[in-house]
Amino acid sequence: MGNLGYDDTPFLPDGKWRVHDSTRPQPPIVTPGAACCDCVLVGPPSDAVILFEGTDLSGWVSKADGSPAAWKVENGYMEVVPGTGYIQTKEQFGDCQLHIEFAAPTEIKGESQGRGNSGVFLMGAYEVQVLDCYDNPTYPDGTTGALYGQFPPLANACRKPGEWQTYDIIWEGPRFEGETVVRPARITVIFNGVLLHYATELIGKTTHREVGVYEPHPEVGPLALQDHGDLVRFRNIWYRPLKGYPEG
Ligand code: MG
Repeated sequence: MGNLGYDDTPFLPDGKWRVHDSTRPQPPIVTPGAACCDCVLVGPPSDAVILFEGTDLSGWVSKADGSPAAWKVENGYMEVVPGTGYIQTKEQFGDCQLHIEFAAPTEIKGESQGRGNSGVFLMGAYEVQVLDCYDNPTYPDGTTGALYGQFPPLANACRKPGEWQTYDIIWEGPRFEGETVVRPARITVIFNGVLLHYATELIGKTTHREVGVYEPHPEVGPLALQDHGDLVRFRNIWYRPLKGYPEG
């Protein structure tokens, strides 16, 4: 496990672990419940806002320059085209229930952060890590489903490369008054039916080898997906805005 991570990065606010600390405990492996059939696709609920339903990327643009998203679409999924960069939704939204499915490349190459890396970026800034951690150890705060660089997942619940996997995320974005964070972002993540984070408060924006800090932004933002050079696929992406109980 020695060189999976870093030993020269700053300490996180807990004072115990460094960013990408290789000595932090590894998340326990939990085998998710069997899918009855790998091709089974459970569609969105009736009030969901569809971000990708499998046929085109008309709702997505390049994160870098707003040009049309250049990833590949086939057979109901989108796939990263390495070198074309992150893509993001035209849709801007805030607190929500988000569903997204992904599959790691079946051709196994690379190790640690080099295997099936991508990412789901809430508001374009806060990453839930996408990685192939099936039989592929890495630094804990970079494991599949990690709040990258901040919190390892409570479990490593990866399915095998090529199998479809699900994230169900409850997202509450940060609130700012001027430059001040009055409420940090809060996130709950369920991966293949296994809880990874429960109302965890983010330290700040996602960074690499640094402690993330908050930078003020609006209460809505896009969903972005990462091009990390690997042929990761995504499908069935939708959200429902969070609402309170009906007022009587
Ligand atoms: Mg990533």
